[in-house]
Amino acid sequence: MTRSLDETGWRFDNTYARLPEPLHAPAVPVAVRSPAVMVLNEPLAAELGLEVEPLRNDAGVFVGMTLPPGAEPIAQAYAGHQFGHFTNLGDGRAILIGEQITPVGRRVDVQLKGAGRTRYSRGGDGRAAEGPMLREFLISEAMHGLGIPTTRSLAVASTGEWVMRESPLPGAVLTRVAASHIRVGTFQFAAAVDAPGLLPALLTHAIARHAPEAAAAEAPAVAFLDRVVEVQAALVARWMLVGFVHGVMNTDNMAVSGETIDYGPCAFLDVYDPAAVFSSIDQHGRYAYGNQPTIALWNLTRLAESLLPAVGGDEDAAIDAVRRVLATFSDRYDRHHLAGARAKLGLTTEDPDDRRLFGDLLGLMSDTAADFTATFAGLAAIAESGKPPNDEHADGRFSAWCGRWLQRLAREPGGTTTAAALMRRSNPVVIPRNHRVEEALAAAAAGDLTVFERLLAVLRDPFVETPANEPYRAGPPPGCGPYRTFCGT
Ligand code: AMP
Ligand code: MG
Repeated sequence: MTRSLDETGWRFDNTYARLPEPLHAPAVPVAVRSPAVMVLNEPLAAELGLEVEPLRNDAGVFVGMTLPPGAEPIAQAYAGHQFGHFTNLGDGRAILIGEQITPVGRRVDVQLKGAGRTRYSRGGDGRAAEGPMLREFLISEAMHGLGIPTTRSLAVASTGEWVMRESPLPGAVLTRVAASHIRVGTFQFAAAVDAPGLLPALLTHAIARHAPEAAAAEAPAVAFLDRVVEVQAALVARWMLVGFVHGVMNTDNMAVSGETIDYGPCAFLDVYDPAAVFSSIDQHGRYAYGNQPTIALWNLTRLAESLLPAVGGDEDAAIDAVRRVLATFSDRYDRHHLAGARAKLGLTTEDPDDRRLFGDLLGLMSDTAADFTATFAGLAAIAESGKPPNDEHADGRFSAWCGRWLQRLAREPGGTTTAAALMRRSNPVVIPRNHRVEEALAAAAAGDLTVFERLLAVLRDPFVETPANEPYRAGPPPGCGPYRTFCGT
């Protein structure tokens, strides 16, 4: 039985497509041989107001061969600093089909990644391979499960065609859902084009979507920058607190919405190492775990430069105004990070020594190559036992640290039960461990999606110890060697 797409629940109201042309170009998703739904995100479909049954039976919609009513497929233009070098880019293989209005009135972009060539494809084929699209689905859903702002993944559909990489790989399209796909690089593009009205049009649009309160400010561009600085400081602090390494924090991969975007060579830490780099292309460690806050500020500074022409008034005064906003980044980052650190340690009150307490634990973890997730996940039980564990591995330093921490916890008004509950809400027991992700992708490549589905289910509920997630809590088996990721083209 075929049902009309209206019954599926599509409700598009496209606003980006109304912006001046240089910001986007029409794009036509390419027809593929035999589209098939590999994974469908049913909870997300429900949030979007979409019926699952018709979606399951309509792979065409997930490769762009069937367009929902009201769809206006476009590719977005943007520029970006890639590893520090400025380039003109744009959606080379992603097509925005429309903005869905959800049942609660949220506006979200629906984008098909891997749907064919666009005006911005340069030498690329506009296509994507199954493995990297399944990986983005898995990791973005894991981020969502961890409560971290992120683009979402609605579906992965295979195309029945091969994409040519070092070897031929099965092709697929990811349907990505985002608060918007406006990047720092989108502003860099608008500023570089320097056409009358372009930057103000983009800014007004972005303010309406992501910082409505900025519209009434004396200098909306500055108020918008302030908002983006705030959401990015919060976001990167959240990454750091779960051991997430984005891997390719180019300015075109930083969304002004404050959502994590563009899951390419990203990965989670197993052992704690501030210098951890997973991406094979990040030769100098520019995007190492410990560099992420610094890089975020670097990217925000590029945003500030791009916004300058829109600030208005005297140029020196405009520069002063954006500098003042940028100068707030470190304090904001520290505040978010310290608040999260306290929660991880079960602390509800503030003590001036808390930062040192947390930092000393990290130092110890780094010295002993301790597992990041497991160390924090183990703290609640130590608090409940009321005494430091006997640890021979770290010369008793971990025991000593626990002693200090337990004394600090003893001053908490809520007692051990409250502290342990807070820790269990703040320290995930499962993250997408690299070896588990690889295992799921390898099985999927061999035609078995059950391993992927099991891992996905576990990652959606990462804070509670369950029999189902028991096998997923441990770090990699010995002999895995250093993990490497490759850019997800
Ligand atoms: P990324 O490294 O995924 O952030 O992509 C950087 C730029 O390369 C973006 O403009 C992408 O649209 C473009 N790109 C990546 N893969 C392809 C591809 N297979 N075909 C065309 N453009 C691509
Ligand atoms: Mg990108």
